[in-house]
Amino acid sequence: MELNRRQFFKVVAGLSALALTTKEARSYPGKFATLIDLTKCDGCKDEPLPLCVKACREVNKHRFPEPKKPIQPYWPRKTYEDWSDKRDRIDTLTPYNWIFIQKVGVDGHNLYIPRRCMHCDSPPCVKGCPFGALTQQPEGNTVIDHNLCFGGAKCRDVCPWQIPQRQAGVGIYLKLMPKLAGGGVMYKCDLCDERIKRGEEPACVVACRDRLKDRAVYTFGDREKIYELAKKRAAEESLFIYGDVQNGGTSTIYLSPVSFEKIDAKLREMKARFSMPVKVANRYAEEINPWGKAIVGAGVLGLAAGIAGAIFSKKNKEEV
Ligand code: SF4
Ligand code: SF4
Ligand code: SF4
Repeated sequence: MELNRRQFFKVVAGLSALALTTKEARSYPGKFATLIDLTKCDGCKDEPLPLCVKACREVNKHRFPEPKKPIQPYWPRKTYEDWSDKRDRIDTLTPYNWIFIQKVGVDGHNLYIPRRCMHCDSPPCVKGCPFGALTQQPEGNTVIDHNLCFGGAKCRDVCPWQIPQRQAGVGIYLKLMPKLAGGGVMYKCDLCDERIKRGEEPACVVACRDRLKDRAVYTFGDREKIYELAKKRAAEESLFIYGDVQNGGTSTIYLSPVSFEKIDAKLREMKARFSMPVKVANRYAEEINPWGKAIVGAGVLGLAAGIAGAIFSKKNKEEV
């Protein structure tokens, strides 16, 4: 559906207002956290694919993108990101795979590291999105609204782990400016937002426990208790912690028998697509100045109006 001029301005004005109102920079620990114990994960070596990955794909498949083809390049660029022919990839994050198991051998340990969104306490992705498409939930998770996302990938640029993944050929941009096409829409783990709001655990957590019972890799629950448990086990078993201070704190805590400096060094040596930097400063440590946000919102409106003006003026000329 292509929008007419009036509808276009209405949507853009709505988005700008949204950017100003919903992007109130919140920064707080949420209710829940996940402990990921790397001493227990074996990558589901006896299964055709890791059960946590399988469960995630199963519960989220109805939200996976179905791009309209042929996909247009992201103007003025000449390329676009299309994972739709690689939906089976489970060895990395994609718009169709929101968790993967990263294998790395360090100091004689073969580690299998479940990688997904860390759900930061002060998430730069939420604060950086100019359209207010990302929100931080009281449960501690961050969620992308696929109906609002323009696929500009600012969230990925500001994420210390580059977690959100883009699929072109989908999204609101196509409805607004189909001839220019958009970047697409960003996708990532939302900590099973609907499930946890219903009082259920994330699907990956349940799948792992069904297989490993009391040796399960994930422990999901009350954030304070998860942090306490992680610190206690780290002290008693000489384990290393990751995620408690990185990026100002997160809702995802890893425990490892090997230091994360070494893990990260190895991942970088392997030229892995996703690393685990230990020193991660939050680029939005200072709250965004509300006037700054107003300028962003006004900028969005102005930019969109400019683009729209150019498009409609060209269209009108062509129609004369
Ligand atoms: S976290 Fe659990 S389900 Fe996932 S790969 Fe490891 S053992 Fe398997
Ligand atoms: S890990 Fe990245 S995508 Fe996830 S909440 Fe933090 S900044 Fe956002
Ligand atoms: S919490 Fe839910 S969305 Fe996130 S990786 Fe696990 S199953 Fe997937």
